[in-house]
Amino acid sequence: MTAVIIPGLDQAPTDHARLLSWVQEVAELTCPDQVVWADGSQDEWDRLTAKLVDAGTFVPLRKKPNSFWAASDPTDVARVEERTFICSVDPRDAGPTNNWMDPAEMKGVMTGLYRGSMRGRTMYVIPFCMGPLDAEKPMLGVEITDSEYVVVSMHIMTRMGTKALNRFGGDADFVKALHSIGAPLEPGQDDVPWPCNETKYITQFPEERMIWSYGSGYGGNALLGKKCYSLRIASVMARDEGWLAEHMLILKLTSPERKTYYVAAAFPSACGKTNLAMLEPTIPGWKVETLGDDIAWMRFGEDGRLYAVNPENGFFGVAPGTDYHTNPNAMRTIEKGNSLFTNVALTDDGDVWWEGMGEPPAHLTSWKKQDWTPGGDELSSHPNSRYCTPIAQCDIKAPEWEDPKGVPISAIFFGGRRATTIPLVTESRDWQHGVFMGATLSSETTAAATGEVGVVRRDPMAMLPFIGYHAGDYFQHWIDTGKSADADKLPKIFYVNWFRRGEDGRFLWPGFGENSRVLKWAVERIEGRAAAVETPIGHVPTADALDLGGLDASREDVEAALEVDAEEWRAELPMIEEWFAKIGEKVPTSLRDELEALKLRLG
Ligand code: GDP
Ligand code: PGA
Ligand code: MN
Ligand code: MN
Repeated sequence: MTAVIIPGLDQAPTDHARLLSWVQEVAELTCPDQVVWADGSQDEWDRLTAKLVDAGTFVPLRKKPNSFWAASDPTDVARVEERTFICSVDPRDAGPTNNWMDPAEMKGVMTGLYRGSMRGRTMYVIPFCMGPLDAEKPMLGVEITDSEYVVVSMHIMTRMGTKALNRFGGDADFVKALHSIGAPLEPGQDDVPWPCNETKYITQFPEERMIWSYGSGYGGNALLGKKCYSLRIASVMARDEGWLAEHMLILKLTSPERKTYYVAAAFPSACGKTNLAMLEPTIPGWKVETLGDDIAWMRFGEDGRLYAVNPENGFFGVAPGTDYHTNPNAMRTIEKGNSLFTNVALTDDGDVWWEGMGEPPAHLTSWKKQDWTPGGDELSSHPNSRYCTPIAQCDIKAPEWEDPKGVPISAIFFGGRRATTIPLVTESRDWQHGVFMGATLSSETTAAATGEVGVVRRDPMAMLPFIGYHAGDYFQHWIDTGKSADADKLPKIFYVNWFRRGEDGRFLWPGFGENSRVLKWAVERIEGRAAAVETPIGHVPTADALDLGGLDASREDVEAALEVDAEEWRAELPMIEEWFAKIGEKVPTSLRDELEALKLRLG
């Protein structure tokens, strides 16, 4: 008999013993008013969105069916990398790129924070599955949270509720993911629209496959199936089991000859994944369909090729910059409704607006809930404001997007946001050289994480904030993955940069739909049909090797975007050396060899 009686705790729709005892333990620690098992039903969505409207967290949109506007606390708008920890037993396993604390010590600190943290609130238990439910080995998790915003977001972003719980059986393994906003309510205390806590911890315990998150309601910190499970914890599983968990979109490209290719691409947060995943080609006869916009799990198939699955069920996209010119497919997806918008502006007639949509209306309610009129200094929407929408309602989703087998990848793109140095596209010489490109990837920081924006940093494979173990071991895992396969079956690796700028600061390459020209060149390279120049950094097309028919950009700009400037690259070398010095002795010898060879080629 337990001493604590919490309504709902005895109404568990499962007899999974480890799950039940964990739920009991968390309820006794956090002291919620009641416990509710999320079932994922329409009724639950209606009940919780109504509750969020009552609480002032949500405003229903009049212009989009079943859709809601939310404004977060102004301090809770992005991932918090400095508050993110990999609590491996041995600090050496977290490596030099992660924050680390002893797991027992962290559990002590966080148990203190969780004690009574759900008082006055409802504790929701959300069984979920990352990736298709009909996978041979479904990737299960359970998130416990005291945030209704999290529950309804999980409805969109994951397969959850009863249909996920049905895959648990009596004793299936699952990832324990505990989340509290850290804002208990005293009896009679009024709630605020976006409760959260100044103190934040986003903690992964890799050996236990466990996540503890505290203090934030923002997507990347609070929807624990996403970054915490599908990247940080899954990258550790992938290392142990011989696969890859990556920060990559997955797209299907069909040529005018009706040949199909699957491409995966890793760019840091807010550097163009969602846009590329849904691209509308500007070159005739080519088609792009979407399988995922943020995360790819890749395993070798029986035929020796690398197959990718998207673990997610929704898009959590950057709103500003998204409109019918840049990303019409995202616009059509959200137009259908059933979506959540966080930290964008609200129009007077009950629609959403953000920077990049063209002429603003005469009056808006800004993400800070203030009156906003055009012409002032303040943005109407936070630069990291987001839409959250189901993949299922995207018109250009590939029919095979839920195939548990995944899709065979022909090309991997690494890319970042660099105003200089990095050409529009470079093809690696081979897998090892491609891994070197990924391992030394650099990008200017964006608003997707708190901290300064626009600072160049190394972001290996766009995974810097997401590698759940030592970055040097991660590089070795990439090298070993290549060695374990037939070289001719491996995807070809390319390095792209849509963000190179001219001297006046304008983008040299128009980007968005025009990036289809780069996709075309890449698959023609795979087919051995497109030309390239061998440069010190890899194979780069001349302007003539790209299909530029109808492109709205000057030839000089395209040539400048493609330029390999040895001087700029020589200036890059000390930064790469500093980066490898930071990773230390675990940098694979093969990658040190690549750096030496690059130095020699640059003279
Ligand atoms: P993600 O966070 O990696 O998925 O990036 P998004 O696709 O959401 O894009 C982030 C920001 O970069 C948005 O403001 C986009 O408008 C912008 N962006 C995306 N692709 C391009 C491109 O090809 N060129 C330029 N100049 N901007 C882009
Ligand atoms: P993004 O996803 O990569 O689409 O920006 C969210 C994030 O990485 O924080
Ligand atoms: Mn991301
Ligand atoms: Mn995205």
